[in-house]
This record gives sequence, structure tokens and C-alpha cells, in this order.
Amino acid sequence: MENLAIIGSGIAGLTAAIYAARANLKPAVISGKDEGGQLMLTTTVENYPCFPEGILGPEMISLARKQAKKFGTRFYDGNVLKVEKKGEAFEITTEEEKIEAKAVIIATGASARMLGLESEKKYWNKGVHTCATCDGAFYDGKEVAVAGGGDSAMEEALFLTHNAAKITIIHRRDSFRASKIMQERVLGNEKIKVMWDSEIEEVTGDGSKVTGLKLRNVKTSTRSQIKTDAMFLAIGHIPNTAFLKGLAELDEQGYIIATETKTKVAGLFAAGDCADKKYRQAITAAGTGCQAALEAERYLESRQ
Ligand code: NAP
Repeated sequence: MENLAIIGSGIAGLTAAIYAARANLKPAVISGKDEGGQLMLTTTVENYPCFPEGILGPEMISLARKQAKKFGTRFYDGNVLKVEKKGEAFEITTEEEKIEAKAVIIATGASARMLGLESEKKYWNKGVHTCATCDGAFYDGKEVAVAGGGDSAMEEALFLTHNAAKITIIHRRDSFRASKIMQERVLGNEKIKVMWDSEIEEVTGDGSKVTGLKLRNVKTSTRSQIKTDAMFLAIGHIPNTAFLKGLAELDEQGYIIATETKTKVAGLFAAGDCADKKYRQAITAAGTGCQAALEAERYLESRQ
């Protein structure tokens, strides 16, 4: 029986592992299918403290993993299919095996929703991005597009005004679902233009970077093309929590409901983007990873 199983190997899970391992809990991390999480999909991270020159996302993950191992964390490969509470303990079913643990931290993250285009995959990180806070600074003085009509799209567009010369929001309907105040800020910003009723059909480029988008007006079916150096997708996130249905309490979008990382199930904790639809930053994920490990340690101590 493991003391503590941490499901997910992104920065939240690895930070939880470093803290739990240093508390001598000998945690076991179950890596999941997208080992290392969203940072593995980023290039330079320039907003994580202590790296004034920036650090590559995958390098950050590799260092955190090394640090977790150094203090005694063990890693299981494999994807978790199910977590069940059996008496006081938890049974975790992966594709390969069953693992029992006294406490569990869920740190499975969230995945940015994609449009599902081949061209969007081709230009991923070569102009196609999902985080303006992370990658907006690469487009100083350039033209960029933002896809979406919710609060995230508004926030991304407003953030991009710090760097880009011109921002075009492309939205599939004729009104935003974002909060009024965010809409007002966007519509009142002279750097931001909106293309309503528009669907992105293709991301175009020169093979190494994005140069434009092919659009279709959903009302008139008219096709058009715009020039852009980047496309930031802000069409929602999908928390990776489907395997928890019936165990943890989830909100209507699937995010884990937790207070100070504690879920309603004794011994089950949540850290990082799987329980955070608001901040979604590497530093906040690491912060809640630390909190979850401290809470798990207290929980395990109270049961001795
Ligand atoms: P969201 O509210 O679900 O909005 C997603 C947007 O993307 C919608 O406008 C939707 O269009 C569009 N969309 C979805 N799938 C699409 C597709 N396949 N193709 C084209 N467009 C697509 O997601 P969100 O903006 O990430 O916000 C999530 C939650 O976090 C919300 O509750 C939001 O209020 C909250 N949030 C709050 C803040 C804040 O308070 N500062 C910041 C960010 C997020 P339709 O409108 O046509 O459905």
C-alpha cells in the first residue's frame, strides 16, 4: 500500500511530490498519458520566478522530476482509468495495474480545447498558441488573432495589447458570452477588432510559421482570408477529470471542487489546473501542489 499516490506529472504533481518526498512520505507519481503536462507543449517560460532569462517548459519539468526523484519519489508509467475509495484507502486502476494508496492527490491538469484542424496541429507553437501570458511577448509589434468569445478570449486579447500592434478576435457568433465588463474593455480598445460570425477553416503559413487564417462567415457562407502572425486559441479548457466521476465532486464544467486543495472525500486532494479554471499558471499550479502535499501529510499524520 502506498502512503500517497499523486496522479499527474505536470508542475503541480511534481511540486506535490517534492514536498511529500521531503516529508518522507515516499510518494508515488502516476505519470499519465501526457507526461509532464502542459509545460511540455510550451517553449520559453518567461514568467516563472528565478529564471530571468526564461526557461524552456520541458526543461522545467525535467528539473522538477529530477528534484522529486532525488528525495525518493517513485514514478509509475500509465494512465489512470478509475479511482475508488475502498474502506479507508483508495484503489487506483491504471491501464496496466491496480495501485492502493492511503491518500491521493489529483493533479491531472486541463487541456486547452482545440478547433480540430490539421493546420492548427502543424503550426502548434509556431504561431498557434493557447496562452497569451506565456507566449504573447513573442509578438511585439505584430498582428495576432484570438479565437473565442468568452472571458478567456477577452482576457487573452487584452493581455496581447501589451505587445501586439493589432489584435483580431474571431468569434463564431454575433455576440460574446463574456462578462459585460470584459466585453466593454475589449470593444473600447482601439487595438482590438472583432470579426463576428466567423469560423476558422484553416491556419495558413510558410511551413515554419503562421502567416494567416482562412475564414468562413457562418451567416453568408462568404470565405475570406486575413493576415496574422499568430492565432491564440481561447475556446475553453477541458479539465482531465472524467475518470473521477462518482468519486470527487465536480462542477458543471468538470473542474474538481476543493477548498484549500481538500475535496469532500477524506484523503483525496486536488492541485493545479484540474481544480483551477481561473488562474491556470505554472506558478499557481506549483503553489497548489505544495498546498496539497502539506494537507496530505497532515491527513496521514492524523490517521496514525
Ligand atoms: P467559455 O466561457 O466556455 O467560452 C468559450 C468560447 O469559445 C465561447 O465563446 C465559445 O463560443 C467558443 N468556442 C467553444 N468551442 C468552439 C469551437 N469549437 N470553435 C469556435 N469557438 C468555440 O470558456 P472560457 O472563456 O475559457 O471561460 C471558462 C470559465 O472561466 C467561464 O466561466 C469564465 O467566466 C471563467 N473565466 C473568468 C475569467 C475572469 O473572471 N477574469 C477569466 C477567464 C475565464 P460560443 O459563445 O458560441 O459558445
